Amino acid sequence: MKAAILGATGLVGQRFVQLLNDHPWFEITALTGSDRSSGAEYGKAVNWRMDTALKDSIAELTVLPSEPKDVDADIVFSALPAEQAMSIEEEFAREGYAVVSNAASHRMDPDVPLMNPEANFPHLSLIDEQRRKRKWDGALVTNPNCTTAVLTLPLKPISDTFGLRNVVMSSMQAASGAGYPGVPSLDIIDNVIPFINNEEEKVQREVAKILGTPGRAADFKVSASCHRVAVLDGHTEAVFVQTEKPATPEQVAECMAGFIAEPQKLRLPTAPERPLVVRTEPDRPQPRFDRGEGHGMAVVVGRVRKDPVFDGVKFVALGHNTIRGAAGCAVLIAESMKSQGYI
Ligand code: NAP
Repeated sequence: MKAAILGATGLVGQRFVQLLNDHPWFEITALTGSDRSSGAEYGKAVNWRMDTALKDSIAELTVLPSEPKDVDADIVFSALPAEQAMSIEEEFAREGYAVVSNAASHRMDPDVPLMNPEANFPHLSLIDEQRRKRKWDGALVTNPNCTTAVLTLPLKPISDTFGLRNVVMSSMQAASGAGYPGVPSLDIIDNVIPFINNEEEKVQREVAKILGTPGRAADFKVSASCHRVAVLDGHTEAVFVQTEKPATPEQVAECMAGFIAEPQKLRLPTAPERPLVVRTEPDRPQPRFDRGEGHGMAVVVGRVRKDPVFDGVKFVALGHNTIRGAAGCAVLIAESMKSQGYI
């Protein structure tokens, strides 16, 4: 299938290029950017920041304007800034394209699936309602904010097994989460920035949408505190959970370690063998050592222990923010859509 990447020169766009390089189902046929880069060769327009080489055949592609008439593709991955994504993604879907977006613009639209495939695969069915309501043949599906993508994976098996009443999460988020060039080095080196615009609000509402049923948000409470730290890639999250039914740390660790979902059962190419890897060492997970687990698609959980305030459990979760938290999640969504006949 022919795949286009909108906003291909940005950090998430580059991650898409890297992940789709040897994909068994999708082949990159179109890359788009803003007026700054359209018309130029991709290799010249992009400031390539991935740790693998850019293929010549991709570097030679001409960057196109982000408009449907210029793009020939079966599936469109969007890594556009939210402001631009709002109208551009709708134009593509109206023209019949299946769009999977990283941007926040449409995540909370009631008829747009907000997907982290292992956590809410059945939400794909919202596409049927969207097509009826919006009278288009295309589709618009979004992936979560990077912090939410990491958080919802461990919460899913806990929610299914014990039920959730309250969740508190404090994040230590990587610099790459702010795009390129992101936070100035003189602000982030030797520092922690205790504010990320809109991040806490996004986490709180997106978790409820993902862990609810299609069209109905979950009703447990989430409180998030988000912080930027001097780590390149990988968001670390300290999570405190009060469950509906009593749960010991051992039971919670066991249900997370055994968790698999539709992407694993369907053997989708980007699905990690285990979406959750539970470590028992006292000093794991750590971003430098654990962000590559499952090719960046697994969330590594550690320090599962009793929480005396909630009489519940607390743990540390870590996931790669531009792979599970962005491009990798979007590719897995596209694979899920294809597997169910939506593309
Ligand atoms: P970025 O590095 O700033 O890249 C932005 C991209 O959008 C570039 O390719 C840029 O093209 C293009 N663009 C900018 N203005 C445009 C316009 N008016 N028309 C068409 N294209 C335009 O940002 P990023 O970090 O990759 O993030 C991309 C999206 O993913 C954002 O919505 C972000 O919130 C979301 N996201 C990011 C992360 C993360 O960890 N970084 C995680 C989850 C979601 P030019 O280079 O040609 O200007």
